[in-house]
Amino acid sequence: MDLNLTREEAAFRDEFRSWLATNVPRDWSAWREKPLEESFSYLRAWQRRLHEGGWAAVSWPTEYGGRSATLMQQAIFWEEMARVEAPPMANALGLGLIGPTIIAYGTEAQKKRFSPRILSADEIWCQGFSEPNAGSDLAALQTEARLDGGYYLVNGQKVWTSYGWVGDWCELVVRTDPTAPKHKGLTVLLVDMKSPGVEVRPLRQMTGESEFNELFFRDVRVPVENVLGKVNDGWTVAMSTLMYERGSYGARLHLLFKRNISRLIQLARTVPRNGRTAAEDPLIRQKLAQCLAEIEIMRLNQLRAFSRITATGVPGPEGSIQKIFWSELNQRVQQLAQEILGPYGQLLAADSHAIDKGVWSYGYLRTRGNTIEAGTSEVQRNITGHFVLGLPRSY
Ligand SMILES: Cc1cc2nc3c(=O)[nH]c(=O)nc-3n(C[C@H](O)[C@H](O)[C@H](O)COP(=O)(O)OP(=O)(O)OC[C@H]3O[C@@H](n4cnc5c(N)ncnc54)[C@H](O)[C@@H]3O)c2cc1C
Repeated sequence: MDLNLTREEAAFRDEFRSWLATNVPRDWSAWREKPLEESFSYLRAWQRRLHEGGWAAVSWPTEYGGRSATLMQQAIFWEEMARVEAPPMANALGLGLIGPTIIAYGTEAQKKRFSPRILSADEIWCQGFSEPNAGSDLAALQTEARLDGGYYLVNGQKVWTSYGWVGDWCELVVRTDPTAPKHKGLTVLLVDMKSPGVEVRPLRQMTGESEFNELFFRDVRVPVENVLGKVNDGWTVAMSTLMYERGSYGARLHLLFKRNISRLIQLARTVPRNGRTAAEDPLIRQKLAQCLAEIEIMRLNQLRAFSRITATGVPGPEGSIQKIFWSELNQRVQQLAQEILGPYGQLLAADSHAIDKGVWSYGYLRTRGNTIEAGTSEVQRNITGHFVLGLPRSY
């Protein structure tokens, strides 16, 4: 595996770097503290600017508005975004998971209808998979869709729907054949969130935000043209979305983590601890060094995963290994921040004594969800145990 950039990769990096130099907004840190609706409109405008520059979805095929970027170019893209502390994009699920699934499984009419509006952030997407009794065991889902002329009539409930509150469209997994084995009777529908019968309720998190929602569907009519992939083959389509989800997360994280740990090291040099600074405490030093080393391991694992996909054409279980590693590492870094900062680490943004405007208390609380979202650590370990270690299936 050659870790040096090729000439094309270096040219790609230079082109994007110079575009960012003149286009990236510098005031995101002030906006991120505003209410969700306000900060979201800022992110929408930022995504539009990226789209106008041709940078919103570099991994997408050129014919659908992307750049057909290689995996290495995608990694370069995210590294450059992280390097300049660019804001995230508003339509994260549309660009990263759902758009690629539509491109892979959609009809030509669906691709033409949905792709441009995903790129421009004119239509925001959410992912309606989990239900109160179907999370890790997604195939147990009960939301049903019954064919009624040219429509499916949808009834049921989804939960933990990120972006539900702002979603225009939803990739919804429903049961279309209740008599088939549980993985076989599922279908994916593309649902207009403005349809009569869709109700969105906020879920308040321990961070104080309401990023997620509960979705309720009561006799919602979805035209048959909005089936994605084949009827009763929704499991294949949904798994493809989850593959994109697990694969795309890790690639962009090591620079963000590195920035966090560098900031923590700076703070440790100033925070008093037992008559000296925290940075002079041997236990804290070891923990900081351990986190730094693990961030480097994470970067190398990501490159190993890219190298394998490039060689074989299919994502391997590295995605699961990487998911376990980054989510638990992120929690270890935040735990260490709390050890270093003591009670000050718990102050929220609104408190004038909060360190770094409360990002450490927010980070500690928000990262608890990392080991649950996109498949829990236990489930990822089951996958790794089976596919890497060759252990018998446990589920
Ligand atoms: C930040 C965040 C964002 C999310 N966004 C979305 C979204 O946009 N759309 C969406 O559809 N969902 C979303 N989810 C939901 C997420 O996919 C589920 O929470 C996740 O799949 C786990 O399901 P569950 O919560 O029902 O837990 P359960 O599946 O009930 O699991 C409970 C516990 O049992 C363990 N467990 C379950 N099965 C096994 C097994 N076979 N072996 C060992 N242990 C097991 C789990 O690891 C967990 O510890 C989000 C969740 C979070 C935290």
